[in-house]
Amino acid sequence: MKPLWTVLLLALFARLSVGQDPLVLVNVNVVMPHEGKVLRNRTVEIKNGIITTVAGSSREPQDGPAINAKGQYLIPGLWDMHTHTSFISPQWDEKIIYPLYIANGITGVRDMGGDFELLKQRRARIEKGELLGPHLYIGGPFLIDAEPDAQTISVKTPKDARDAVDKLKSEGADFIKILSRLSRESYFAIAQESEKDHIHFVGHVPGTISASEASTAGQYSIEHLTGISLVCSSQEADLQGKIKTATASRDWFAYRALYEQAAWTYDDQKAATLFATFVKNNTWQVPTLIWTKTQSTLDDAKWDADPRLKYVPTSVRNEWDRKAVLKQTPPDILTDYKNQASRGPQLVKAMLKAGVRFMAGSDGPDPYVFPGFSLHDELELLVQSGFTPAQALEAATTSPAMFMEKSDKYGTIEKGHTADLVLLEANPLEDIHNTRKIAAVIFGGKYYPRAELDKMLSQVESLAK
Ligand SMILES: [Zn+2]
Repeated sequence: MKPLWTVLLLALFARLSVGQDPLVLVNVNVVMPHEGKVLRNRTVEIKNGIITTVAGSSREPQDGPAINAKGQYLIPGLWDMHTHTSFISPQWDEKIIYPLYIANGITGVRDMGGDFELLKQRRARIEKGELLGPHLYIGGPFLIDAEPDAQTISVKTPKDARDAVDKLKSEGADFIKILSRLSRESYFAIAQESEKDHIHFVGHVPGTISASEASTAGQYSIEHLTGISLVCSSQEADLQGKIKTATASRDWFAYRALYEQAAWTYDDQKAATLFATFVKNNTWQVPTLIWTKTQSTLDDAKWDADPRLKYVPTSVRNEWDRKAVLKQTPPDILTDYKNQASRGPQLVKAMLKAGVRFMAGSDGPDPYVFPGFSLHDELELLVQSGFTPAQALEAATTSPAMFMEKSDKYGTIEKGHTADLVLLEANPLEDIHNTRKIAAVIFGGKYYPRAELDKMLSQVESLAK
């Protein structure tokens, strides 16, 4: 028989440890992002990784010790809907990149292109609990008219396009990701084959296609606001022709200048027509405002002192060398980024007003877009673009679940849902910055209090050295 003090100590550890089951939170404020409201003083009970009860405070916990979360706010686990967690170069170790998401309350990511075999293997290990990391919703390699490598599939003809879609679907991709360089014939072949195979295709709007055509062809999400300014331009027809010529002759200088010209000839009526097309076809937008903002400010020395750099592996940090990146970015391209960074929020605001649907995505870990942390930056930028805090939160919780057709598991706090949750010290509906005030993360029913999350971060820091 154990002495009493060991029993007491064990009971104490049970309260703090990650394996508590059932896990019961009492007096907690439950946030409903999609309804923009808070249910005060609830009891939330979790068994085997599933939410089994969300009830009024009068309900006594059924069994096991309870965590008193008085004054704290529970939100659904966050999803970063645009990441690249398996880029071959620069290399991020799985034990570095994935805990950064969990420690920041991001319990799922949409991986928008990378090493398919590696991603599939990681997805399986995460689901089995063998690797700590967010749920991975993966597209695998990019479809592009270029020479293939481990991260791309070369699509030069409509047959290549159909074969690529069939192969990815049969090998377990969750969706198809396309990049900017694709012929019209290949693009429409991807659209048709995706529809036939019941799989969504998403990505950039290629230079050969208009954003309106993409929406009508069934492209399910448009990333980085690609192609939108052009269709909103009063000179669209003229510019489209010139852009095609510039694309064919690979005159990227002219290409960029033409897109700039499109942005400066924005027409409200044309924009309204395009946005109505997005609404009608259910075309989602993932503007990745933080990516553009970051790239547009790389001439600012503040980045060299960013405290989050300590979580970036040394090899990656060397590749991120700001001055070297700047050298590869000619001044006129930096100016383009600055223009885009100031226009992006205006475009987002206009689309939001028109009823277009959005998701939050960071495009990390591109240079200085810090995995995990940068989703919180994106939420703030969405609020600066006219979202209410509830709408911003919705773009990282309820909307991703709906987009992935997984609303029965994720995105809201209700009975029967996966227990991926974030406990906050303050109300995020009052101030979106409060999503950073993380008291605990619950992932698959496991409870990681602040002390555990800090330990996770310091482990990442030492591995990154
Ligand atoms: Zn990307």
